[in-house]
Amino acid sequence: MTNDSGYLGLAGGFLRSAARAPEHVALEVDGARLTYAELRAYAQRVAATLTAHRAGEGAPLTCVLGQRSAAGFAGILGALCSGHGYVPMLPSYPAARLLVMIERARARALIVDGGARRVLPEVLASAPWPLLVLCLDERALPDPDAFPQHRVLGPGDLAPAEDWRPPAVTPDDIAYLLFTSGSTGQPKGVMVAHRNILRFLEVVTERYALTAADRFSHLFEVTFDLSLFDMFAAWSAGGTLCCPDPRQRMLPARYVVDSRLSVWFSVPSTALLMKETRTLEPGGFPGLRVSLFCGEALTTPVAEAWALAAPNARHENIYGPTEVTLACTTYGFGADIAARAPDGVVPIGAPFPGMRARVADPDTLREVEPGEAGELLMSGPQVALGYWDDPERTRAAFVVPPGESEIFYRTGDRARRPSQPSAPIEFLGRLDHQIKIRGYRVELGEVEAVLRREAGVDAAVAIGWPTTTSGGAEGIVAFLAPGPGAALDVGALQRRLAQHLPRYMVPRQVRVIDAFPLNNNGKIDRNALARTLQ
Ligand code: AMP
Repeated sequence: MTNDSGYLGLAGGFLRSAARAPEHVALEVDGARLTYAELRAYAQRVAATLTAHRAGEGAPLTCVLGQRSAAGFAGILGALCSGHGYVPMLPSYPAARLLVMIERARARALIVDGGARRVLPEVLASAPWPLLVLCLDERALPDPDAFPQHRVLGPGDLAPAEDWRPPAVTPDDIAYLLFTSGSTGQPKGVMVAHRNILRFLEVVTERYALTAADRFSHLFEVTFDLSLFDMFAAWSAGGTLCCPDPRQRMLPARYVVDSRLSVWFSVPSTALLMKETRTLEPGGFPGLRVSLFCGEALTTPVAEAWALAAPNARHENIYGPTEVTLACTTYGFGADIAARAPDGVVPIGAPFPGMRARVADPDTLREVEPGEAGELLMSGPQVALGYWDDPERTRAAFVVPPGESEIFYRTGDRARRPSQPSAPIEFLGRLDHQIKIRGYRVELGEVEAVLRREAGVDAAVAIGWPTTTSGGAEGIVAFLAPGPGAALDVGALQRRLAQHLPRYMVPRQVRVIDAFPLNNNGKIDRNALARTLQ
């Protein structure tokens, strides 16, 4: 499987940096430092092993179950170096959700790190078909005779790095498949092509003048697409990815200083937490050169406090959904942001180079007048391929509006079209029931579908509560009306929900009520339910 074109897709930037400076540190994790040469050899061994053992059937996708470990990163790079796209999965997810992801992705290969040891046996016991399982950490190796249906390899079975051959990948192949919350009760897989993510990386590398001297934060989970900036912007520039240890994750201000970070990227909630715990001190982060926020609304008090804490940095609020490859609009701000954003929310700015924004009437998709609000649509080279195995939802969200010839992605976000070309686009919230919980994207409809199924009821309502100043929520409260005489064990229901949903999607409270309030249209009045929480 050689590649005459020299095109290596998403892994290409890392491999070029490794060729340029093999002894430079690529990764700091778990108290260890891995040079580019070491991480490359690790990834190449994983890739060569995958290529030697996997059968030709199944989709060209490899699941990687791991997080913030050398093995997890080698797994991601190894999957890519083998010519597959990667499907990130978290060891903290319930086995049932991991199984849905493996099945939906039609993946035949699974790479795991040590953190996956607890959940792995349950996944292997119920896997839909025989898997090639690469345990990169001895601790995750199951009993050798326990799963004869699968081919389980351990760290001692890895092929030598010299066996690796550059894979045949094309710009249109899937680089990663990311499952996001889906309103019908099943997560949906966003297919992002190599050309989409490489375009994003090109733009940010140039815009922020990223270099090998940069040290990057890594606070995002690998199932959140923003983690790709941390890993691949760092490695394309030849810089160092600095993983926080558990203590540093609790104390992010210490992390900035102790890890000598120069590039910071987080959801605004992290900065809010730092502000609330009084760890954002003016001038506290002189070493930061670039600070970026994305994933949810950034409020002006948080932005201002951050700008004062990092006086030497360039600050930007970047915006975008997974379907438009991390981020597609940006707005630079400084300590004077409150005066520039009187409504208290930092604008999302202007499209990235080559991207186009259209603020449209959600019914007709015709552009609204300058200064008016509508749904934000985005087009350009970062628009992803669509939803995996779901042409219907792809057609509904990836559209060609009237008068256009290009595909635009319907973000579902409300935005205000600038009243004049030099003014920024303003973010106004969602048009649907998608919310953000500390940056995690949650379709309340998905929580409701699982609630209905597990409680055996016809209707359930999930509400983001308590709400935060940025328009997101800290958690979820659910309402059920099982009817007179129906017994519902709420504790048992919550335990069952936790077997299917990631922790942040499990309702903290389930309230059983006699009947749902209805609005004038006869629909369940969600606002009336939300008011009962105040
Ligand atoms: P995700 O696909 O998880 O990245 O979530 C995308 C959604 O997060 C967007 O559609 C917005 O609703 C929200 N979002 C992302 N960035 C921002 C931002 N800078 N300001 C406000 N909302 C944002």
